[in-house]
Amino acid sequence: MKAVRRFTVHARVPDELSGLAELATNLRWTWHPPTRDLFASMDDALFRRIRDPLRMLAEVPASRLDELARDPEFLDRTRKASEDLQRYLTEPRWYQRRMEQAEDGERFPRAIAYFSMEFGVHEALPNYSGGLGVLAGDHLKAASDLGVPVIGVGPLYRAGYFRQSLSLDGWQVEHYPVIDPSGLPLELLTEPSGEPVYVHVAMPGGRDLLAQIWLARVGRVPLLLLDTDVEGNDEDLRGVTDRLYGGDDDHRIRQEILAGIGGMRAVRRYCELTGHPQPEVFHTNEGHAGFLGLERVREVLAEGELTFEEALSAVRAGTVFTTHTPVPAGIDRFGVDLVRHYFGDGRLLPGVDVERVLALGSEDNPERFNMAHMGLRLAQRANGVSALHGKVSRRMFSRLWPGFDIEEVPISSVTNGVHGPTWVAREMSALLGGSDEEWGHDGNGSGIDPNVTDEQLWALRRELRGNLVAEVRRRAREAWLQRGASALELGWTERIFDPDVLTVGFARRVPTYKRLTLMLRDPERLRALLLDDERPIQIVVAGKSHPADEGGKALIQQIVRFVDDPAVREHIVFLPDYDMSMARYLYRGCDVWLNNPTRPLEACGTSGMKAALNGCLNLSIRDGWWDEYYDGSNGWAIPTADGVTDPLLRDDLEAAALYDLLGQQVAPLFYDRDENGVPRGWLSMIWHTLRTLGPRVQASRMVREYVESFYRPAATTVAAAVADDYAGARSLAAYRARVDACWPLLRVVSTELSVEDSDVPVVGARARITARVELAELDEDDVEVQAVVGRVGDTDDLSDVVTATMAPCGRGEFVTSLRLPFAGSLGYTVRVLPKHPLLATPAELGRVVLA
Ligand SMILES: *Cc1c(COP(=O)(O)O)cnc(C)c1O
Repeated sequence: MKAVRRFTVHARVPDELSGLAELATNLRWTWHPPTRDLFASMDDALFRRIRDPLRMLAEVPASRLDELARDPEFLDRTRKASEDLQRYLTEPRWYQRRMEQAEDGERFPRAIAYFSMEFGVHEALPNYSGGLGVLAGDHLKAASDLGVPVIGVGPLYRAGYFRQSLSLDGWQVEHYPVIDPSGLPLELLTEPSGEPVYVHVAMPGGRDLLAQIWLARVGRVPLLLLDTDVEGNDEDLRGVTDRLYGGDDDHRIRQEILAGIGGMRAVRRYCELTGHPQPEVFHTNEGHAGFLGLERVREVLAEGELTFEEALSAVRAGTVFTTHTPVPAGIDRFGVDLVRHYFGDGRLLPGVDVERVLALGSEDNPERFNMAHMGLRLAQRANGVSALHGKVSRRMFSRLWPGFDIEEVPISSVTNGVHGPTWVAREMSALLGGSDEEWGHDGNGSGIDPNVTDEQLWALRRELRGNLVAEVRRRAREAWLQRGASALELGWTERIFDPDVLTVGFARRVPTYKRLTLMLRDPERLRALLLDDERPIQIVVAGKSHPADEGGKALIQQIVRFVDDPAVREHIVFLPDYDMSMARYLYRGCDVWLNNPTRPLEACGTSGMKAALNGCLNLSIRDGWWDEYYDGSNGWAIPTADGVTDPLLRDDLEAAALYDLLGQQVAPLFYDRDENGVPRGWLSMIWHTLRTLGPRVQASRMVREYVESFYRPAATTVAAAVADDYAGARSLAAYRARVDACWPLLRVVSTELSVEDSDVPVVGARARITARVELAELDEDDVEVQAVVGRVGDTDDLSDVVTATMAPCGRGEFVTSLRLPFAGSLGYTVRVLPKHPLLATPAELGRVVLA
């Protein structure tokens, strides 16, 4: 029989233990081991099985609860844990301390809304598919630890992402377990009347899409999750939040309309109901939730007197857009007709003309609406997620800023980071010193206890490897039972892996560019490495393919066929259902984390960071974060065959380099032991990694960077834009209109360079540059005129440029003087850029006039 409906019956927790309920629902327990210990002590075996405090409260027998309610020692620990949580939730942390030292004019936003299509906080709240979601979860947790007032918002999926298993012949099989939000660490947001809060989003044909809002508490950070599976919705609309990344374009645009527009309305209502300050800054984590900017334009227009351009200026000032995709094909696009279908009748965003909407998402192809372009046009500040990805993004989007060199495209970068307290083994933080929660958190690698010896660290590494080996055996056995093997045939799974053998991990989603099967390029060489008598390696592989990606599934099948071979199956495994719970064992227990994407298609990558924090060394193509942080002694860089256009040849070359590294450098160093069996050279690389890489890969470093370089400046600009009844926004919009009208008439009439104090130019001599500019209707103060000096090659293109602002001296004349920066062939030019106090960079409007 199947149930027609499911629901969760909550336990009746004795009054004495009421503190446990808050401890179980605030997800801080996911990164706070002492809280987990408290729940484990209620019933150790049960906790080890379910690992979820909320479910513990439901499943611990009532008799045991009564017993605990009378146990003074347990009550005391519960009280202390509650007090500790209260302290954590209310005490001043980094952000509050930082605010106290604020200098004049520095503005700290009272709240920041962070929009993402997925959030991976913990497997107890399965609402993510992979890296993007886990990053969003880490962002919230680090913001909480730092006291940054972030509010997270996104959809809650009834069937989250899929669980993966394998068929007997190694083909990926998906299933979608349905969640019951009332059984998860979530609270339904309600009106003072007790009724659920609903946000309404208009759909075509006069319908309304409703969503209720679930609140997850991620430490200090509220996370609002929108759920359309409510009675008031038509059947098809109930399914809007059914799955993450499932369905067609129509389904996806509904999800994104809900996430952006509904998400914005949810944040507003949450703040009204709870007294939480309204956000000043809005962070769009990837393009999907970009419609939030349009909703804010609607809000401003509804207030009264502003034009669309004025409202847009105000909205842009407070918006930050982060792109995560280095490939044009990865960008979210919709048909223009689909956008018209949803926005055309004016009900979804009253007062916002659909033509305006379409213009914001326009791209080369007039039939397509580009969410990344809209994201960039609605945000005054934008970034990629590693230095290399910033560079790739500037090139990829350079056509939105015609006339600018690629380096000047206003997309910067903040390298991703990972939440240390979530990903570092507690044994590791205990050994290295500091509290469980705080290791490396202050961004200070010197926090590591200097008295820890090689022997201690090595013993811990072996213990973590041993834990992984046990987990690998358990999961491999389970996977085989699932594939239909009988327990009798599975004795060999007890012999999988050896806790003393060099262990390599490779786990990630399976888009082609990640090259899951690169290691199979030469199966004989791989086999030789696995079966080496003296210096064997063992490899654990995991990864999910998007359900619609048959190619990805074929790659998985290729791996599975290889590892099924009895000759190697004890030395290489594929574990199905990669998720956060498995990832934790892998990052902690592996010695080497392998990453071999096709450069530069990995925007950042974060799994290697989590591994590094646990003393696992990276072996990676120099892509994403590794391109920036690899220093020659914190791991290995697999040489890339950049420029080789034949992809198969490129794979051959890079695979060969990988085998060489593994066989000739990695394994020899790992097995090079002193008389006590300790690999000193290996350990020195681990120490170096922990000390120097540790602080840089933390999400706390990333969030601080967002605060300093994005949230604060955005709050400052937005305050200036909205003050005095939007005077700043009006002035900027008026300025833009003047620039639009005058720009085609602007021109640099003449320029002149003369060297001062000498007859011939010598390096370091002062050069005086003058220019006459035809300003059309603009004033001298409306423009920035720059002299640009740099090296020139055969093509007259300037490189290594030095830029100097030229001062106006009346009648369109401008002048500056600068020192000649280099010897050799130099050139110069003069250019005119827009200038307004509310522009974030002179390139922002995509306007430039060159001499
Ligand atoms: C960290 C993480 C990822 C992202 O790893 P990449 O290196 O970016 O591929 C994916 N899935 C899970 C479960 C993770 O924890």
